[in-house]
Amino acid sequence: MARVALVTGGQRGIGAAISEALQAAGRKVVASYAGNDQAAKAFTDRTGIPCYKFDVADFDACAEAVKRIEAEVGPIEILVNNAGITRDATMKRLTREMWDAVIDTNLGSCYNMCKLTWDGMTARKFGRIVNIGSINGQAGQYGQVNYAAAKSGIHGFTKALALEGARSQVTVNAIAPGYVDTEMVRAVPPDVLEKIIARIPVGRLGRAQDIARGVVFLTADDADFITGSTLSINGGQHMY
Ligand code: NDP
Repeated sequence: MARVALVTGGQRGIGAAISEALQAAGRKVVASYAGNDQAAKAFTDRTGIPCYKFDVADFDACAEAVKRIEAEVGPIEILVNNAGITRDATMKRLTREMWDAVIDTNLGSCYNMCKLTWDGMTARKFGRIVNIGSINGQAGQYGQVNYAAAKSGIHGFTKALALEGARSQVTVNAIAPGYVDTEMVRAVPPDVLEKIIARIPVGRLGRAQDIARGVVFLTADDADFITGSTLSINGGQHMY
């Protein structure tokens, strides 16, 4: 029986590539999203992957969704916490609302989704969790105090939870993507983007498929000796 994989924010951007790569690897994939019904419908029409709409920052909404997905599709054995947002501003302009939104969506969601799938994974003695961090959580970034804190938090979260899952064959890893060509990065002003690309040793932005390849690797059934790791996929940018 194909294992069920849930990819949050899995119907567009990096998440869509992850969903499709897991499907190609033989997983039964389910994607979640926040509100972009049009993208979700187009994605399901194209791939056959069902999309569930719920806010990953809202614990009760996650609980309801996990219950529904597990009843309709099967127990979640692979979880990819990919949904994320940015609300960039320097400290001078960073409001409490922008702080909370980014922390709750990027980091709070990891707690919500892991908490709700954890008992099942540990009881079944199999689980693969991949949390999507960021190079900006490793290095920091101007105007991203909230985002860097959330992504940096993901890296600590991953290592601590990996210790708890180790004896139950539940692995927990993170991927720290560099700059990937998605809507999130297309929102960066062209002159800033040019400077960013100049600092990427391979000389290009990442592709969503570059990140998806890492997720397939870390969630393989025989990847059971890899846990608590952060895989940097950034064209060598972490060396700068
Ligand atoms: P996109 O903005 O292209 O897509 C974000 C996805 O997350 C969408 O599916 C969106 O749903 C979903 N989402 C956002 N908020 C919520 C929420 N509250 N509840 C449920 N789903 C939500 O992002 P990317 O593909 O660029 O990024 C994916 C991940 O990779 C993020 O965690 C991001 O921080 C990380 N990352 C991205 C990098 C990049 O260069 N792009 C670099 C490093 C890390 P909907 O479509 O409905 O809005």
